[in-house]
Amino acid sequence: MTPPAALPPLVSVDGVQKTYLGRQGGAIQAVASATLAVRKGEFVSLLGPSGCGKSTLLMMVAGLEPVTAGSIALNGTPVTGPRRDIGIIFQDATLLPWKSALENVLFPVRILKLPVDKYIDRARELLRMVGLSGFETKKPAELSGGMRQRVAICRALVHDPDILLMDEPFSALDAITRDQMNVALSEILETYHKTVIFVTHSIREAAFLSDRVLVMGGRPSTIILDMEMPFARPRRFDIEETAEFTAVCRTLRLSIEDAHADAGASRGPRAAGSRVE
Ligand code: ADP
Ligand code: MG
Repeated sequence: MTPPAALPPLVSVDGVQKTYLGRQGGAIQAVASATLAVRKGEFVSLLGPSGCGKSTLLMMVAGLEPVTAGSIALNGTPVTGPRRDIGIIFQDATLLPWKSALENVLFPVRILKLPVDKYIDRARELLRMVGLSGFETKKPAELSGGMRQRVAICRALVHDPDILLMDEPFSALDAITRDQMNVALSEILETYHKTVIFVTHSIREAAFLSDRVLVMGGRPSTIILDMEMPFARPRRFDIEETAEFTAVCRTLRLSIEDAHADAGASRGPRAAGSRVE
């Protein structure tokens, strides 16, 4: 078998910059320059404080936000707009309230005009994998926050995309549910082998889930650290008790703090409120 390092990257982000035009005509540079490559099957986290441009970078990879400069390619083709080889999960599950869990999972199938009967079994199987067998007919209001986010994960996977983009998917959940979701996600990926870009401001979450963690920071931001996670898979929560895990988290934390210190007085009030857990 070809070692993963020898494969061409599935996601290539090359010298990407993003400047938003503010309402009063001013420019907000959200991403100064980002270059990264994600190999097939890799789980890569973008870690950094709020406001450092993580969501912006993810939305550009998804083709939902145009780049100001640079280029992005997925599966060898340039990203010019939304595409069907990705699935996206946001912080809020954003389910359709009047549709059942099963119908919400099938929603992308309908949007993409794929044959619904061919995907019903897959949708049920995904719901079973995330522990939602028996909840297929429930409406979102009848489900807990964690359950709704599980439905959103199934919805992102139903059309079998190669790439899963996740933007702080568990940060609105309580700590216990969040830990359960991290384990559930790891189990799903052991079965479905997707390539994942996962945005988070939680150091522990990034270290637990990822093959590689990219730290974003500075102002305007760039990728300041690219670090392999040395933990074997499958992972269970006891790895968080190890000295190696603590050391990795410490390295990640120091890198974020260094970026803060370097940005120094030029950081605005928003940065003062930045959150990293
Ligand atoms: P993060 O996801 O790391 O919290 P974002 O990508 O949301 O960061 O935001 C990065 C910067 O870009 C912030 O200063 C934010 O205020 C600004 N920004 C994000 N989206 C927009 C937008 N649509 N228009 C103008 N500025 C934006
Ligand atoms: Mg964000």
